Amino acid sequence: MSPTKRVLLFSSKLGYQTRAFNTFAEKLGVELVFVTDRCHRLDDPWNDLALSVHFENPEEAAHSVVQSLAGRNIDGILALGDRPTPAAAYAARKLGLPYHHPASAVACRNKLRMREIFRDAGIPTPWFRAVPLQSIPEPALLGISYPCVLKPLSLSASQGVVRANNRDEFIAGATRLKRLLESAEIRATRECKLDQMLAEGYIAGREVAVEGLLTAGQLRILAIFDKPDPLEGPYFEETIYITPSRLPAETQQAVEKSFLNATRAIGLTHGPVHGEFRINDNGVWPLEIAPRPIGGMCARALRFQPENGAEIISLEELLIRHALSISGADAPHESSASGVMMIPVPQSGTFEKLEGEQEARSVEGITALEITARLLDYITAWPEGSSYLGFLFARRDGPGEVEAAIRTAHAKLQFTLVPRLPVEHPVTGKLNIP
Ligand code: ADP
Repeated sequence: MSPTKRVLLFSSKLGYQTRAFNTFAEKLGVELVFVTDRCHRLDDPWNDLALSVHFENPEEAAHSVVQSLAGRNIDGILALGDRPTPAAAYAARKLGLPYHHPASAVACRNKLRMREIFRDAGIPTPWFRAVPLQSIPEPALLGISYPCVLKPLSLSASQGVVRANNRDEFIAGATRLKRLLESAEIRATRECKLDQMLAEGYIAGREVAVEGLLTAGQLRILAIFDKPDPLEGPYFEETIYITPSRLPAETQQAVEKSFLNATRAIGLTHGPVHGEFRINDNGVWPLEIAPRPIGGMCARALRFQPENGAEIISLEELLIRHALSISGADAPHESSASGVMMIPVPQSGTFEKLEGEQEARSVEGITALEITARLLDYITAWPEGSSYLGFLFARRDGPGEVEAAIRTAHAKLQFTLVPRLPVEHPVTGKLNIP
Protein backbone atom coordinates (compact mmCIF):
# COMPACT_ATOMS: atom_id res chain seq x y z
CA MET A 1 0.00 0.00 0.00
CA SER A 2 1.40 3.45 -0.89
CA PRO A 3 2.05 5.74 2.10
CA THR A 4 -0.46 8.51 2.87
CA LYS A 5 0.31 11.71 0.97
CA ARG A 6 0.76 14.79 3.11
CA VAL A 7 0.19 18.47 2.24
CA LEU A 8 1.43 21.39 4.32
CA LEU A 9 -1.33 24.01 4.38
CA PHE A 10 -0.29 27.50 5.51
CA SER A 11 -3.17 29.68 6.65
CA SER A 12 -3.72 32.64 8.97
CA LYS A 13 -7.31 31.73 9.57
CA LEU A 14 -8.40 28.27 10.62
CA GLY A 15 -11.96 28.77 9.58
CA TYR A 16 -14.32 27.98 6.78
CA GLN A 17 -11.72 27.64 4.02
CA THR A 18 -9.35 25.37 5.92
CA ARG A 19 -12.29 23.22 6.98
CA ALA A 20 -13.28 22.87 3.32
CA PHE A 21 -9.73 21.80 2.47
CA ASN A 22 -9.87 19.26 5.29
CA THR A 23 -13.07 17.75 3.94
CA PHE A 24 -11.70 17.33 0.44
CA ALA A 25 -8.35 16.04 1.69
CA GLU A 26 -10.17 13.34 3.66
CA LYS A 27 -12.09 12.43 0.53
CA LEU A 28 -8.78 11.96 -1.31
CA GLY A 29 -7.14 10.12 1.61
CA VAL A 30 -4.62 12.95 1.95
CA GLU A 31 -3.33 14.20 5.31
CA LEU A 32 -3.22 17.97 5.81
CA VAL A 33 -0.67 19.45 8.19
CA PHE A 34 -1.82 22.97 9.14
CA VAL A 35 0.64 25.78 9.71
CA THR A 36 -0.87 28.89 11.28
CA ASP A 37 -0.12 31.95 13.38
CA ARG A 38 -3.52 31.95 15.05
CA CYS A 39 -3.45 28.74 17.09
CA HIS A 40 -3.80 30.44 20.42
CA ARG A 41 -7.00 32.19 19.30
CA LEU A 42 -8.73 29.07 18.08
CA ASP A 43 -11.94 27.93 19.56
CA ASP A 44 -12.45 25.23 16.97
CA PRO A 45 -9.18 23.42 16.36
CA TRP A 46 -10.66 19.97 15.56
CA ASN A 47 -7.60 18.43 17.22
CA ASP A 48 -5.60 19.18 14.11
CA LEU A 49 -2.21 19.66 15.81
CA ALA A 50 -1.50 22.75 13.71
CA LEU A 51 2.09 23.97 13.71
CA SER A 52 2.27 27.45 15.18
CA VAL A 53 4.56 30.08 13.62
CA HIS A 54 4.91 33.86 13.11
CA PHE A 55 4.28 34.66 9.47
CA GLU A 56 5.96 38.07 9.69
CA ASN A 57 9.32 36.26 9.83
CA PRO A 58 8.76 33.92 6.89
CA GLU A 59 12.22 32.41 6.70
CA GLU A 60 12.23 31.67 10.42
CA ALA A 61 8.68 30.32 10.20
CA ALA A 62 9.73 27.93 7.42
CA HIS A 63 12.74 26.79 9.42
CA SER A 64 10.63 26.06 12.48
CA VAL A 65 8.05 24.18 10.37
CA VAL A 66 10.70 21.95 8.83
CA GLN A 67 12.17 21.26 12.30
CA SER A 68 8.75 20.42 13.71
CA LEU A 69 8.04 17.93 10.95
CA ALA A 70 10.69 15.70 12.53
CA GLY A 71 11.25 13.74 9.35
CA ARG A 72 7.56 13.35 8.40
CA ASN A 73 7.39 13.25 4.63
CA ILE A 74 5.65 16.17 2.87
CA ASP A 75 4.43 15.81 -0.71
CA GLY A 76 2.88 19.21 -1.47
CA ILE A 77 2.47 22.78 -0.23
CA LEU A 78 -0.43 25.21 -0.31
CA ALA A 79 -1.02 28.63 1.27
CA LEU A 80 -4.29 30.49 1.78
CA GLY A 81 -4.47 34.25 2.15
CA ASP A 82 -1.73 36.81 1.64
CA ARG A 83 0.22 36.66 4.91
CA PRO A 84 1.31 33.00 4.96
CA THR A 85 2.53 32.74 1.36
CA PRO A 86 6.19 33.81 1.83
CA ALA A 87 6.60 31.29 4.69
CA ALA A 88 5.10 28.59 2.47
CA ALA A 89 7.52 29.52 -0.31
CA TYR A 90 10.55 29.29 1.99
CA ALA A 91 9.33 25.95 3.35
CA ALA A 92 8.81 24.60 -0.17
CA ARG A 93 12.37 25.53 -1.02
CA LYS A 94 13.74 23.81 2.08
CA LEU A 95 11.70 20.69 1.35
CA GLY A 96 12.51 20.65 -2.38
CA LEU A 97 8.85 20.94 -3.39
CA PRO A 98 7.61 22.84 -6.44
CA TYR A 99 6.14 26.22 -5.43
CA HIS A 100 6.58 29.94 -6.08
CA HIS A 101 10.05 31.34 -5.36
CA PRO A 102 10.28 33.06 -1.93
CA ALA A 103 11.47 36.36 -3.48
CA SER A 104 8.41 36.42 -5.74
CA ALA A 105 6.05 35.61 -2.87
CA VAL A 106 7.66 38.34 -0.75
CA ALA A 107 7.36 40.89 -3.60
CA CYS A 108 3.63 40.25 -3.79
CA ARG A 109 3.28 41.33 -0.15
CA ASN A 110 4.34 44.89 -0.98
CA LYS A 111 2.18 46.93 -3.32
CA LEU A 112 4.97 49.43 -3.94
CA ARG A 113 7.40 46.69 -4.97
CA MET A 114 4.76 45.21 -7.26
CA ARG A 115 4.25 48.55 -9.01
CA GLU A 116 8.03 48.89 -9.50
CA ILE A 117 8.21 45.40 -11.00
CA PHE A 118 5.31 46.06 -13.39
CA ARG A 119 6.73 49.43 -14.45
CA ASP A 120 10.19 47.96 -15.06
CA ALA A 121 8.70 45.09 -17.08
CA GLY A 122 6.82 47.54 -19.33
CA ILE A 123 3.42 46.39 -18.02
CA PRO A 124 0.74 49.15 -18.00
CA THR A 125 1.13 50.83 -14.59
CA PRO A 126 -0.28 54.11 -13.25
CA TRP A 127 2.10 56.70 -11.79
CA PHE A 128 2.83 55.84 -8.15
CA ARG A 129 4.64 57.26 -5.10
CA ALA A 130 5.36 55.96 -1.62
CA VAL A 131 4.17 58.64 0.82
CA PRO A 132 5.32 58.78 4.46
CA LEU A 133 2.40 59.03 6.86
CA GLN A 134 4.11 60.27 9.98
CA SER A 135 3.63 63.83 8.87
CA ILE A 136 1.56 63.89 5.72
CA PRO A 137 3.35 65.91 3.03
CA GLU A 138 1.69 68.58 0.91
CA PRO A 139 0.50 66.58 -2.12
CA ALA A 140 1.56 69.30 -4.60
CA LEU A 141 5.16 68.82 -3.43
CA LEU A 142 4.93 65.15 -4.39
CA GLY A 143 3.56 65.91 -7.84
CA ILE A 144 0.27 64.15 -7.07
CA SER A 145 -2.37 64.46 -9.79
CA TYR A 146 -6.08 63.63 -9.51
CA PRO A 147 -8.01 61.43 -9.34
CA CYS A 148 -5.67 59.16 -7.42
CA VAL A 149 -5.94 56.20 -5.07
CA LEU A 150 -4.35 55.96 -1.62
CA LYS A 151 -3.68 52.55 -0.12
CA PRO A 152 -1.70 50.69 2.53
CA LEU A 153 1.35 48.80 1.27
CA SER A 154 0.46 45.44 2.72
CA LEU A 155 -3.18 45.06 3.76
CA SER A 156 -5.81 43.23 1.71
CA ALA A 157 -9.56 43.09 0.98
CA SER A 158 -9.47 46.78 -0.07
CA GLN A 159 -9.04 47.76 3.57
CA GLY A 160 -7.83 51.35 3.72
CA VAL A 161 -8.07 51.89 -0.06
CA VAL A 162 -9.48 55.38 -0.79
CA ARG A 163 -9.98 57.47 -3.91
CA ALA A 164 -9.07 61.19 -3.79
CA ASN A 165 -10.32 63.60 -6.46
CA ASN A 166 -8.57 66.72 -5.17
CA ARG A 167 -6.13 68.02 -2.56
CA ASP A 168 -8.68 68.12 0.28
CA GLU A 169 -9.73 64.55 -0.33
CA PHE A 170 -6.07 63.52 -0.47
CA ILE A 171 -5.37 65.05 2.94
CA ALA A 172 -8.60 63.64 4.42
CA GLY A 173 -7.94 60.17 2.93
CA ALA A 174 -4.31 60.10 4.06
CA THR A 175 -5.30 61.19 7.58
CA ARG A 176 -7.91 58.46 7.74
CA LEU A 177 -5.45 55.87 6.46
CA LYS A 178 -2.83 56.98 8.98
CA ARG A 179 -5.37 56.56 11.79
CA LEU A 180 -6.26 53.08 10.54
CA LEU A 181 -2.62 51.97 10.23
CA GLU A 182 -1.88 53.30 13.73
CA SER A 183 -4.86 51.50 15.28
CA ALA A 184 -4.16 48.73 17.78
CA GLU A 185 -5.96 46.23 15.58
CA ILE A 186 -3.73 46.82 12.56
CA ARG A 187 -0.56 47.14 14.68
CA ALA A 188 -1.35 43.70 16.09
CA THR A 189 -1.00 42.18 12.61
CA ARG A 190 2.71 43.19 12.72
CA GLU A 191 2.51 43.93 9.00
CA CYS A 192 5.50 45.84 7.73
CA LYS A 193 5.49 49.35 6.23
CA LEU A 194 2.57 50.62 8.26
CA ASP A 195 4.17 54.07 8.33
CA GLN A 196 3.76 54.63 4.58
CA MET A 197 1.03 54.58 2.00
CA LEU A 198 1.04 54.21 -1.75
CA ALA A 199 -0.49 56.97 -3.85
CA GLU A 200 -1.14 56.06 -7.47
CA GLY A 201 -3.12 57.23 -10.48
CA TYR A 202 -6.78 56.19 -10.58
CA ILE A 203 -7.35 53.72 -13.42
CA ALA A 204 -10.83 54.15 -14.88
CA GLY A 205 -12.49 51.14 -16.46
CA ARG A 206 -14.15 47.80 -15.84
CA GLU A 207 -12.68 45.43 -13.34
CA VAL A 208 -12.22 41.65 -13.45
CA ALA A 209 -10.74 39.10 -11.07
CA VAL A 210 -8.91 36.13 -12.50
CA GLU A 211 -8.18 32.79 -10.91
CA GLY A 212 -5.20 30.91 -12.29
CA LEU A 213 -2.95 27.96 -11.63
CA LEU A 214 0.73 27.88 -12.53
CA THR A 215 2.52 24.62 -13.26
CA ALA A 216 6.26 24.99 -13.81
CA GLY A 217 5.68 28.46 -15.27
CA GLN A 218 2.70 27.47 -17.47
CA LEU A 219 -0.41 29.48 -16.61
CA ARG A 220 -3.84 27.91 -16.76
CA ILE A 221 -6.78 30.29 -16.38
CA LEU A 222 -9.40 28.67 -14.17
CA ALA A 223 -11.94 31.49 -14.39
CA ILE A 224 -12.39 35.15 -15.26
CA PHE A 225 -14.90 36.85 -12.96
CA ASP A 226 -16.69 40.00 -14.12
CA LYS A 227 -17.37 42.56 -11.40
CA PRO A 228 -20.60 44.12 -12.69
CA ASP A 229 -20.76 46.93 -10.11
CA PRO A 230 -18.98 50.19 -11.04
CA LEU A 231 -16.30 50.22 -8.24
CA GLU A 232 -15.53 53.90 -8.71
CA GLY A 233 -14.88 54.75 -5.08
CA PRO A 234 -14.45 56.59 -2.83
CA TYR A 235 -14.02 53.14 -1.19
CA PHE A 236 -13.61 49.83 -2.92
CA GLU A 237 -15.47 47.13 -1.03
CA GLU A 238 -16.00 44.14 -3.34
CA THR A 239 -19.53 43.10 -4.24
CA ILE A 240 -20.47 40.74 -7.08
CA TYR A 241 -18.22 38.27 -8.94
CA ILE A 242 -19.66 36.37 -11.92
CA THR A 243 -18.13 33.76 -14.18
CA PRO A 244 -17.95 33.11 -17.11
CA SER A 245 -17.08 36.62 -18.16
CA ARG A 246 -19.35 38.44 -20.59
CA LEU A 247 -16.45 40.42 -22.04
CA PRO A 248 -15.67 39.94 -25.74
CA ALA A 249 -13.33 36.98 -26.43
CA GLU A 250 -10.48 39.27 -27.52
CA THR A 251 -10.71 41.28 -24.28
CA GLN A 252 -10.59 38.07 -22.28
CA GLN A 253 -7.53 37.00 -24.24
CA ALA A 254 -5.90 40.36 -23.50
CA VAL A 255 -6.63 39.83 -19.78
CA GLU A 256 -5.08 36.35 -19.92
CA LYS A 257 -2.00 37.73 -21.65
CA SER A 258 -1.67 40.50 -19.09
CA PHE A 259 -1.99 37.96 -16.27
CA LEU A 260 0.75 35.80 -17.81
CA ASN A 261 3.04 38.82 -18.30
CA ALA A 262 2.44 39.99 -14.74
CA THR A 263 3.13 36.56 -13.18
CA ARG A 264 6.30 36.27 -15.28
CA ALA A 265 7.48 39.74 -14.31
CA ILE A 266 7.11 38.84 -10.62
CA GLY A 267 8.65 35.42 -11.21
CA LEU A 268 5.73 33.34 -9.95
CA THR A 269 6.05 29.78 -11.22
CA HIS A 270 4.08 27.12 -9.42
CA GLY A 271 0.81 27.12 -7.50
CA PRO A 272 -2.41 29.13 -7.33
CA VAL A 273 -2.46 32.76 -8.50
CA HIS A 274 -5.19 35.35 -8.21
CA GLY A 275 -5.20 38.64 -10.12
CA GLU A 276 -7.30 41.79 -10.29
CA PHE A 277 -7.30 43.90 -13.47
CA ARG A 278 -8.85 47.06 -14.88
CA ILE A 279 -9.63 47.31 -18.57
CA ASN A 280 -9.99 50.54 -20.54
CA ASP A 281 -9.19 51.97 -23.97
CA ASN A 282 -5.49 52.02 -23.07
CA GLY A 283 -5.32 48.30 -22.37
CA VAL A 284 -5.34 45.90 -19.45
CA TRP A 285 -3.89 47.16 -16.15
CA PRO A 286 -2.98 44.64 -13.46
CA LEU A 287 -4.06 46.06 -10.09
CA GLU A 288 -2.49 43.27 -8.15
CA ILE A 289 -1.32 39.68 -8.39
CA ALA A 290 -1.34 37.35 -5.40
CA PRO A 291 0.18 33.85 -5.21
CA ARG A 292 -2.86 32.31 -3.55
CA PRO A 293 -6.35 31.11 -4.44
CA ILE A 294 -9.46 33.31 -4.32
CA GLY A 295 -10.28 34.11 -0.69
CA GLY A 296 -12.48 32.34 1.79
CA MET A 297 -15.96 31.32 0.85
CA CYS A 298 -15.75 32.77 -2.67
CA ALA A 299 -13.96 29.57 -3.73
CA ARG A 300 -17.37 27.92 -3.62
CA ALA A 301 -18.29 29.79 -6.79
CA LEU A 302 -15.84 27.58 -8.71
CA ARG A 303 -16.45 23.94 -9.58
CA PHE A 304 -14.80 21.71 -12.14
CA GLN A 305 -16.15 18.90 -14.27
CA PRO A 306 -13.62 16.13 -14.98
CA GLU A 307 -13.76 15.11 -18.63
CA ASN A 308 -14.12 11.40 -17.82
CA GLY A 309 -17.61 12.11 -16.50
CA ALA A 310 -16.54 11.70 -12.86
CA GLU A 311 -18.33 13.82 -10.26
CA ILE A 312 -17.83 17.59 -10.13
CA ILE A 313 -14.92 18.67 -7.97
CA SER A 314 -14.35 21.78 -5.87
CA LEU A 315 -11.54 24.30 -6.22
CA GLU A 316 -10.07 22.96 -2.97
CA GLU A 317 -9.90 19.43 -4.35
CA LEU A 318 -8.41 20.68 -7.61
CA LEU A 319 -5.70 22.54 -5.68
CA ILE A 320 -4.85 19.56 -3.48
CA ARG A 321 -4.53 17.40 -6.60
CA HIS A 322 -2.32 20.05 -8.19
CA ALA A 323 -0.10 20.40 -5.12
CA LEU A 324 0.44 16.63 -5.15
CA SER A 325 0.77 16.39 -8.95
CA ILE A 326 -1.97 13.77 -9.02
CA SER A 327 -4.45 13.40 -11.86
CA GLY A 328 -7.60 15.51 -12.04
CA ALA A 329 -6.05 18.95 -11.56
CA ASP A 330 -6.70 19.67 -15.23
CA ALA A 331 -10.51 19.30 -14.96
CA PRO A 332 -12.19 22.17 -16.87
CA HIS A 333 -14.62 24.61 -15.29
CA GLU A 334 -18.22 23.36 -15.23
CA SER A 335 -20.44 24.66 -17.99
CA SER A 336 -23.02 26.53 -15.87
CA ALA A 337 -22.53 30.15 -14.82
CA SER A 338 -21.99 30.99 -11.20
CA GLY A 339 -21.52 33.98 -9.01
CA VAL A 340 -21.00 35.23 -5.52
CA MET A 341 -21.84 38.47 -3.77
CA MET A 342 -19.66 39.55 -0.87
CA ILE A 343 -22.52 41.23 0.99
CA PRO A 344 -21.51 44.87 1.50
CA VAL A 345 -21.64 46.69 4.83
CA PRO A 346 -23.92 49.73 4.26
CA GLN A 347 -22.75 51.54 7.43
CA SER A 348 -20.73 50.74 10.54
CA GLY A 349 -22.84 49.63 13.46
CA THR A 350 -23.92 46.89 15.81
CA PHE A 351 -25.52 44.11 13.82
CA GLU A 352 -28.90 43.86 15.52
CA LYS A 353 -31.23 42.19 13.09
CA LEU A 354 -31.50 40.48 9.72
CA GLU A 355 -34.78 40.07 7.89
CA GLY A 356 -35.60 38.45 4.57
CA GLU A 357 -33.25 35.44 4.77
CA GLN A 358 -35.87 32.91 3.71
CA GLU A 359 -37.10 35.14 0.88
CA ALA A 360 -33.53 35.62 -0.37
CA ARG A 361 -32.80 31.89 -0.22
CA SER A 362 -35.90 31.03 -2.20
CA VAL A 363 -34.98 33.23 -5.19
CA GLU A 364 -34.52 30.96 -8.22
CA GLY A 365 -30.85 30.25 -8.84
CA ILE A 366 -29.66 31.07 -5.31
CA THR A 367 -27.65 28.08 -4.11
CA ALA A 368 -26.55 29.37 -0.71
CA LEU A 369 -26.68 32.32 1.65
CA GLU A 370 -24.05 32.36 4.39
CA ILE A 371 -24.26 35.13 6.97
CA THR A 372 -20.79 35.35 8.49
CA ALA A 373 -21.27 38.48 10.63
CA ARG A 374 -22.35 37.59 14.15
CA LEU A 375 -25.45 39.15 15.65
CA LEU A 376 -24.60 41.90 18.18
CA ASP A 377 -21.05 42.26 16.87
CA TYR A 378 -19.92 45.73 15.83
CA ILE A 379 -19.35 45.65 12.07
CA THR A 380 -17.03 48.22 10.51
CA ALA A 381 -17.79 49.55 7.04
CA TRP A 382 -15.07 50.24 4.44
CA PRO A 383 -12.50 51.74 4.21
CA GLU A 384 -11.62 50.77 7.81
CA GLY A 385 -13.53 47.49 7.60
CA SER A 386 -12.46 44.27 5.94
CA SER A 387 -15.21 41.73 6.74
CA TYR A 388 -18.38 41.30 4.73
CA LEU A 389 -21.79 40.59 6.23
CA GLY A 390 -21.92 37.31 4.38
CA PHE A 391 -21.97 35.67 0.98
CA LEU A 392 -24.73 34.98 -1.51
CA PHE A 393 -24.14 32.30 -4.16
CA ALA A 394 -26.02 31.65 -7.38
CA ARG A 395 -25.71 29.17 -10.21
CA ARG A 396 -27.76 29.28 -13.41
CA ASP A 397 -27.37 28.72 -17.14
CA GLY A 398 -26.01 32.13 -17.99
CA PRO A 399 -24.11 34.94 -16.24
CA GLY A 400 -26.95 37.46 -16.77
CA GLU A 401 -29.36 35.18 -14.90
CA VAL A 402 -26.83 34.69 -12.11
CA GLU A 403 -26.47 38.45 -11.70
CA ALA A 404 -30.24 38.94 -11.67
CA ALA A 405 -30.69 36.19 -9.04
CA ILE A 406 -28.03 37.71 -6.79
CA ARG A 407 -29.43 41.24 -7.07
CA THR A 408 -32.99 40.05 -6.43
CA ALA A 409 -31.94 38.03 -3.40
CA HIS A 410 -29.82 40.85 -1.99
CA ALA A 411 -32.73 43.28 -2.29
CA LYS A 412 -34.73 40.99 0.01
CA LEU A 413 -32.17 41.17 2.81
CA GLN A 414 -32.56 43.89 5.39
CA PHE A 415 -29.67 44.29 7.79
CA THR A 416 -30.17 46.49 10.84
CA LEU A 417 -26.84 48.04 11.82
CA VAL A 418 -27.15 50.50 14.68
CA PRO A 419 -24.40 53.15 14.81
CA ARG A 420 -22.67 53.75 18.14
CA LEU A 421 -23.64 56.93 19.93
CA PRO A 422 -20.96 59.57 20.38
CA VAL A 423 -19.25 59.26 23.79
CA GLU A 424 -18.53 62.40 25.83
CA HIS A 425 -15.01 62.57 27.28
CA PRO A 426 -15.43 62.78 31.09
CA VAL A 427 -12.88 65.60 31.50
CA THR A 428 -12.77 67.60 28.28
CA GLY A 429 -16.45 67.14 27.43
CA LYS A 430 -15.43 66.54 23.80
CA LEU A 431 -17.57 64.16 21.79
CA ASN A 432 -15.76 61.10 20.50
CA ILE A 433 -17.70 59.90 17.48
CA PRO A 434 -16.80 56.28 16.71
P1 ADP B 1 -6.28 45.02 -1.79
O1 ADP B 1 -5.07 44.16 -1.91
O2 ADP B 1 -6.47 45.55 -0.40
O3 ADP B 1 -7.50 44.41 -2.39
P2 ADP B 1 -5.93 46.64 -4.18
O4 ADP B 1 -4.73 47.41 -4.52
O5 ADP B 1 -6.17 45.38 -4.95
O6 ADP B 1 -5.94 46.35 -2.62
O7 ADP B 1 -7.18 47.58 -4.34
C1 ADP B 1 -8.49 47.19 -3.97
C2 ADP B 1 -9.49 47.73 -4.96
O8 ADP B 1 -9.38 49.15 -5.05
C3 ADP B 1 -9.30 47.23 -6.39
O9 ADP B 1 -9.94 46.00 -6.60
C4 ADP B 1 -9.92 48.37 -7.19
O10 ADP B 1 -11.33 48.27 -7.24
C5 ADP B 1 -9.55 49.59 -6.38
N1 ADP B 1 -8.28 50.19 -6.84
C6 ADP B 1 -7.06 49.99 -6.31
N2 ADP B 1 -6.12 50.70 -6.98
C7 ADP B 1 -6.77 51.35 -7.97
C8 ADP B 1 -6.36 52.25 -9.01
N3 ADP B 1 -5.10 52.64 -9.15
N4 ADP B 1 -7.31 52.71 -9.84
C9 ADP B 1 -8.62 52.37 -9.70
N5 ADP B 1 -9.05 51.54 -8.74
C10 ADP B 1 -8.16 51.02 -7.89
